[in-house]
Amino acid sequence: MNAVTTRTTCPYCGVGCGVNAVVDNDAVSVAGDSAHPSNLGSLCSKGTALADTVGLQGRLLHPVVDGRRASWDDALDEVAARFGQIIAEHGPDAVAFYVSGQLLTEDYYVANKLMKGYIGSANIDTNSRLCMSSAVAGHKRAFGEDVVPGCYEDLEVADLVVLVGSNTAWCHPVVYQRIVAAQENDPNKKLVVIDPRRTATAEGADLHLPIAPGTDVHLFNGLLGYLAENGVASDLPGTQDAVAEAHKIGDIDAVAEACGVDRDTVAAFFELFAQTERTVTVFSQGVNQSSAGTDKVNAILNCHLLTDRIGKPGACPFSITGQPNAMGGREVGGLSSTLAAHMGFDAAERVQRFWGSPAIADEPGLKAVELFEAIERGEVKAVWIMATNPLVSLPHADRAKRALEACEFVAVSDCMRHTDTVDRAHVLLPAAAWAEKSGTVTNSERVISRQRSFLPMPGDTRADWDIICDVARRMGFADGFDFDSAAAIFREHAALTAFENDGERVLNLAGLTDLTDSEYDTLKPVRWPIFAPQTLRAAGAMPVAQDSRRLFTDSVYPTRDGQAHLVAVTPRGPANAVSNEWPLALNTGRIRDHWHTMTRTAKSARLAAHIPEPFVEVHPEDAKRYGVADGAIATVSTALGEAHVRVIVTAGQREGTLFVPMHWNDQFAARARVGALANPAVCPISGEPEFKHTPAAIAPF
Ligand code: SF4
Repeated sequence: MNAVTTRTTCPYCGVGCGVNAVVDNDAVSVAGDSAHPSNLGSLCSKGTALADTVGLQGRLLHPVVDGRRASWDDALDEVAARFGQIIAEHGPDAVAFYVSGQLLTEDYYVANKLMKGYIGSANIDTNSRLCMSSAVAGHKRAFGEDVVPGCYEDLEVADLVVLVGSNTAWCHPVVYQRIVAAQENDPNKKLVVIDPRRTATAEGADLHLPIAPGTDVHLFNGLLGYLAENGVASDLPGTQDAVAEAHKIGDIDAVAEACGVDRDTVAAFFELFAQTERTVTVFSQGVNQSSAGTDKVNAILNCHLLTDRIGKPGACPFSITGQPNAMGGREVGGLSSTLAAHMGFDAAERVQRFWGSPAIADEPGLKAVELFEAIERGEVKAVWIMATNPLVSLPHADRAKRALEACEFVAVSDCMRHTDTVDRAHVLLPAAAWAEKSGTVTNSERVISRQRSFLPMPGDTRADWDIICDVARRMGFADGFDFDSAAAIFREHAALTAFENDGERVLNLAGLTDLTDSEYDTLKPVRWPIFAPQTLRAAGAMPVAQDSRRLFTDSVYPTRDGQAHLVAVTPRGPANAVSNEWPLALNTGRIRDHWHTMTRTAKSARLAAHIPEPFVEVHPEDAKRYGVADGAIATVSTALGEAHVRVIVTAGQREGTLFVPMHWNDQFAARARVGALANPAVCPISGEPEFKHTPAAIAPF
């Protein structure tokens, strides 16, 4: 048989790289897709090793009910019956779905439709809550809608790229490579990194500001005040209040002191920003994962709005997302705080009319941390977890474990037979994995790409959308869930974005509402908004007549007054301050070659070899102070638990802070599940947890 090449997308980070998957007899290999606009043929170490992860080792291949292999009929009947019974007895808010940025848009769409339109509760939240809901909330406050205004090309065109709270070199490597390549071609371009840690990204920067954890608003308010003092003005709503609040931080000396950075470094950054029209500020989890996450986002957006650096080549704020389809999930309403198609609950009647559904959620549901608290209290009695491992990834993960153990009914759809979460389910539903699934994803620059299957579904596995629709039908909702393909779901999603949308929302896929199945199969990467079908067809599935690379080029925003808004934000420290008992600030995050809870990347020997075991990074002075030696095992503890990890002493770690990667868990290393240590404080606006700051201690093991 000849080798067959399938164009698909990488299932890891939100860069959303195009991948050519080649199946030659039984051998699978992958290469970057040079025709994909987001990666232009490049892949990082994780993407390059994708073929190592497609084997069936550890896969969940058959439905399981109460620990025993079951038929699909028995498993799906059990899920439908238990959910139906609990809803009948306790109402729709007694059940919940907890879903994932790993789901495809079509999976997400039907899960959201079932919960919000048919069950009638908004208790569906996604693990995207943990990584970028602060960006969502910040965008809505400033722009009126959750939209990323720029594209990756802006990072190349910019004369200044500012990376805030982002180890881009490790977490979004192909985007980082694009920035570095552009800067190598033009040495006048500058890179500034703002991060308490001296990461691989900071190593390559022209300027690094190792600010104290939690001082982003102090820094960007300082910048806003500096810009205003130097004559930059705007008549956008909110400007006066935002600038007045910003001035309270004081001069550069005061900002430097508040941020714990030397004065000249702050001055150099402010000057560079003030002088560089083409500036892109990229922000990621270091900004979002904070009890002040939304304010931090708005502090950054304020500086771009004041200087009118948005909607122009090389000038925009840029939220770069963690997961492959966090953006698609945001678009269909996968967060409990939005309804669907970027509409809020004020549009409940409209969405219900579009769906023709028997019910509609008319107020936000529980956000991730709240949801597991409600499960623990017994208020939510049934939960269906899809494609995520919250017992590792949630903060205060041991509480989440207790919650699931006490929950009346837990269903889990997953492709792995054993994870911390799977092992606590009453019903297991075997889902197809990356190589076997078809649908769409949206990446950080609003590009919708097809993910295409290139291997058959093994065992009894099924697509997530297919499983969800089957449960919906068994719950008596046949009418809304008679989809026979992912393409049919995508068409309905596209139609909802365009429904009664006279420009009130930027998310508009009107040009994709009547794609035929074969057009959907061959759809090339396309960036939204997409208004005109005829343009799409004429251009061979690429809407070249319409330049959607940048939003807000006309300075018109989807707000009531059509303007962007600056938001006055007040600096405040982390929710829980360090103390004598817990003197260090624990920060968690990713490493280069692992993904989430390692269920896939641990299958690849070359990825596992990069950093083979969990570790803690410690500043040399802290190592001395607390008696831990480089290479030894230490106990890292917080008020919630402890982990045993290898010590790396490095001056790159800011004194007074620790860093432990988020990936390891009970399956791969005893006592290294750092989610169990992280405090569950959340941003009061976005609900995003404060993973970047938990008071902690370290001691020799
Ligand atoms: Fe995959 Fe992200 Fe690497 Fe691209 S940069 S290959 S999307 S992990």
